[in-house]
Amino acid sequence: MRVHGAWLTDPGVQAVLAMLAEGGHQALIVGGAVRNALLGHDVSDIDIATDARPERVQQLAKAANIRAVPTGIEHGTVTLVVAAVGHEVTTFRRDVETFGRHAVVAFADNIVDDAARRDFTMNALYVDAAGNVIDPLGEGLADLAAGRVRFVGHPDDRILEDYLRILRFFRFTAWFGAPDAGVDADALAACAEHALGVEGLSRERVGAEMRKLLAAPNPAPAVTAMQTAGVLAHLLPGADARSLAPLVHFEAGRVPDWRRRLAVLGGKDVAEALRLARADARALDVLVTASRDDAPAAVLGYQFGADLGASALLARAALTGYAPSDGWQAELARGAGATFPLKAADLMAAVSGAALGARLKELEARWIASDFALTRAELLA
Ligand code: ATP
Ligand code: MG
Repeated sequence: MRVHGAWLTDPGVQAVLAMLAEGGHQALIVGGAVRNALLGHDVSDIDIATDARPERVQQLAKAANIRAVPTGIEHGTVTLVVAAVGHEVTTFRRDVETFGRHAVVAFADNIVDDAARRDFTMNALYVDAAGNVIDPLGEGLADLAAGRVRFVGHPDDRILEDYLRILRFFRFTAWFGAPDAGVDADALAACAEHALGVEGLSRERVGAEMRKLLAAPNPAPAVTAMQTAGVLAHLLPGADARSLAPLVHFEAGRVPDWRRRLAVLGGKDVAEALRLARADARALDVLVTASRDDAPAAVLGYQFGADLGASALLARAALTGYAPSDGWQAELARGAGATFPLKAADLMAAVSGAALGARLKELEARWIASDFALTRAELLA
């Protein structure tokens, strides 16, 4: 089987692969790039695997005049910079020992060992510089085609090596699991058994995983499984996946937005639990509040803009079970386009200081309540 694409013929990628091959080494693209290319999804980041040890990679790079940055040398990763673009090259590895939290790795000389330490069979696929696909474990291609997200090896052992794999399991199930394949039962049982382990993960990593999971076209089945397995409760206490499927229904194919999904999921102190960026936390706050009250579409459009307003209305529909009222998009746009006809300067002759702000707010509230109808003259009067 062969794959192709601009990601593979990219001159920088080809230069790195050629440099390693000319040095007498195996050089392969591995993981997400191969998986996504086989599925026809976008390929964003490229990981390169090689049997060359990190020092050897650096030595070859020096000889080829390629800048080498030891970005993760203890894991065997060297970043090679070609035309200002970094390419991560990681030496084949195998898991040798575990302490219940992090896999301890050693370098390996062969691709089968390297494939065996990867998380899921569909992530243990490789491609050479010409696009030939290699499936060292002999399971990845079939699982990928069938939409089966399965651990490499025994799920219990693999999760005990690294609890992040619990989250990765649900994320990849959301993205690449076939709806009729269901969620892998052995994996799910192991996730349930070791659910408590996710509490030891950093909030940043949990946040990154949850954002990616919730950006899937339809995350509802995977997040529901996550809840059933007792994992969700450890990550987001109080969250409830029940309204996610209705949300996906009401979204009707519009661009997935993880914040909208997160607002529907709910839970206590979500922004804090996931270490959200300030702007995301603010948007989430708007979505949570607006989806749980009953402000009309036009008002949401005025207050939060058409995009965030639409997300709030869709989230509200999911939570209540009622579709937004007819013409809601036009109403949102009307509100988003409305401009309050007064400025602070208009009131300065009459009031000042803190009273000025309060007065302006009050007049704005009246103007909104009039459905944006009161004119400047009416407001001033
Ligand atoms: P994407 O980049 O689209 O999120 P990916 O599969 O490329 O998906 P990465 O996190 O970039 O995921 O990791 C690259 C590869 O490294 C994976 O495909 C997998 O083979 C391996 N890998 C990553 N994280 C783990 C892990 N925690 N345990 C085992 N293998 C892992
Ligand atoms: Mg990747």
